[in-house]
Amino acid sequence: MNYYSLNNIAADTTFENAVIKGLAPDRGLYFPESITPLNPTFFETIETLSNEEIAFEAIQQFISPEIPEAVLKTIVSETLNFDFPVVKLTESISTLELFHGPTMAFKDVGARFMARCLGYFNQNNSSEVTVLVATSGDTGGAVANGFLGVKGVRVVILYPSGKVSNIQEKQLTTLGQNITALEVDGTFDDCQEMVKKAFMDDELTSKMQLTSANSINVARWLPQLFYFMFAYKQLKKSYKEIVFSVPSGNFGNVCAGMIAQKMGLPIKHFIASNNDNNVVTRFLKSNSYDPKPSVQTVSNAMDVGNPSNFIRIQAIYKNDFETLKSNLSSYSFTDEDTKKALDEIYSTTNYIADPHGAVGYLGCKSYLETNPKAHCVFLETAHPTKFLDVVKEVIDADIPLPTQIQSVIDKQKVATEIKDYSEFKVFLKQL
Ligand SMILES: *Cc1c(COP(=O)(O)O)cnc(C)c1O
Repeated sequence: MNYYSLNNIAADTTFENAVIKGLAPDRGLYFPESITPLNPTFFETIETLSNEEIAFEAIQQFISPEIPEAVLKTIVSETLNFDFPVVKLTESISTLELFHGPTMAFKDVGARFMARCLGYFNQNNSSEVTVLVATSGDTGGAVANGFLGVKGVRVVILYPSGKVSNIQEKQLTTLGQNITALEVDGTFDDCQEMVKKAFMDDELTSKMQLTSANSINVARWLPQLFYFMFAYKQLKKSYKEIVFSVPSGNFGNVCAGMIAQKMGLPIKHFIASNNDNNVVTRFLKSNSYDPKPSVQTVSNAMDVGNPSNFIRIQAIYKNDFETLKSNLSSYSFTDEDTKKALDEIYSTTNYIADPHGAVGYLGCKSYLETNPKAHCVFLETAHPTKFLDVVKEVIDADIPLPTQIQSVIDKQKVATEIKDYSEFKVFLKQL
């Protein structure tokens, strides 16, 4: 499959090149040249297929022939060696648990998939690739874990000092080997800006091959379309009208869901659930896109002022505001709403959500007010113990730490502090 740049200046390129480059030379995001719907029988019989079979069928068109079928099958099965259960909470609301991977947030799937693709492309390449990644919390850990020990790949993670949870920080600062963490005196947006600046810095790019493991990278982003298929497989017998509420930050996840829908997955509607960083909620009201600097919230992985993937959503809808609006709703919720929702979910269903899932739950409730026939699935994007301080504040219960969390909690943090781009550049040049 070829990919084109959404800035429409750079030439089309292969999947391999899109993965290695991350961003097109004209700074545009890459987008697949075509999206071919799967055979309707695939969806009619999806419950007879394993997750690996579903994922392979779904992703193949975006990758072949560059990765041979047998290799791709191995990549898919190594990526997906944990569960994706749907838990029914009420007659009209379920949650899709995406936190059963090694770092307990949904980003494990994309990170593991991308690491394996890059490892495959790099196996006969003598030069190193340096992966730069800005994280608002969960990407860093998932990428560190997914890329640990991958030959020929070095990972540099930038995270905003004091703005990620204790567990998140441990997950991204304690692995060592080919993984380095930079603690940035600033916000997530500052981290993201520095990464973008490095890509545009000829002095750096002439010396080193830089790529990104944020959802701008097609290999990180596209595998997220699996989730929606896995949920559909579990729910299709019980419900006719399935809608998804996606707690959104950089909008990669919801955008991947829209690709699944384009491929024929019967999804009735999407809900982008936001915290106070709500540029898309405001856009759908006013048809005016007005990004603002990010503000800090209790659902920190969604503290994104200017979501990178929104341009991909615009591409899917060919910039047609009305069509987009008929398929996507968006609501935004305060931290106070979020904490109340954590409490409500627990007291009415005994389920312990995390702050991001709670925002998704609220999105379901808002949508169901006017669409009572739908069954709404919110994505539970992280395990509640990743945000224990917030959850404990609201829910008075013993929450046992899963083994994935226990294994990092006593490890020693190793991070280099940086203040601005010039310090970042000095760091990269001495690698
Ligand atoms: C990254 C993340 C999100 C936001 O996902 P996007 O694809 O960036 O919209 C939501 N919840 C959690 C827990 C995350 O880690």
